[in-house]
Amino acid sequence: MRKLAAGNWKMNGTATALAEVAALAAAHPAPGCEVLLCPPATLIDRMANAARGTPVMVGGQDCHARESGAHTGDISAAMLRDAGASHVILGHSERRADHGETDAAVAAKTQAAWGTGLVAIVCVGETEAQRDAGQTLAVVGAQLAGSVPDGATAAALVIAYEPVWAIGTGRTPTNAEIAEVHRFMRAELAARFGAEAAGMRLLYGGSVKPSNAAEIFALPDVDGALVGGASLKAADFGAIVAAL
Ligand code: PEP
Repeated sequence: MRKLAAGNWKMNGTATALAEVAALAAAHPAPGCEVLLCPPATLIDRMANAARGTPVMVGGQDCHARESGAHTGDISAAMLRDAGASHVILGHSERRADHGETDAAVAAKTQAAWGTGLVAIVCVGETEAQRDAGQTLAVVGAQLAGSVPDGATAAALVIAYEPVWAIGTGRTPTNAEIAEVHRFMRAELAARFGAEAAGMRLLYGGSVKPSNAAEIFALPDVDGALVGGASLKAADFGAIVAAL
């Protein structure tokens, strides 16, 4: 399986930031993993143009479950495709928290993404209170069950395990904790999707940086990373790409 380094720019970046794409592609013309950047929607089209002919793929950070209609401010999966996206992040904890996205909403968006040929990167992860209460596996299991529709394939589904308390905080779970959740997710997906689960990429996300990437990527069932802050600069993200 080819591993995946995915960058989530969140609500960061205007036209000048596109220079990072050229810098990343120049420094890593033949990366050993797939490389994806998910900029704000306003940059997708321009980033896709900047990335043409390079190994860098471009994705969205959310999509609506419907194809079109009266949904002011929203963007459909088909619009992301049209702008040049190949992937879309769905159910990120910031969207679950800021926009009240439920597992059912994430599942509907995932279905919409698949309907247009986008690869869905579905995010799951526990809060600090849930981890402290020993509920991590139960929470992640319920999110997986509710957010991933039937019919998932290894080509169309990527899962990102992102403990909410590790996002943007500089804190990470121990290697054993990451490995435990990833092993659990692989087993849950195998119980539901059979042999297909072996090829599904399971990304870790939450304060991944050049200094910790190699040891996290060496863990079993970790097939890449979803990276926030450290994906904004080509030098940092390139170092993470090189570690995969
Ligand atoms: C994220 O936004 O998905 C993320 C993991 O952020 P950071 O790498 O900044 O913790």
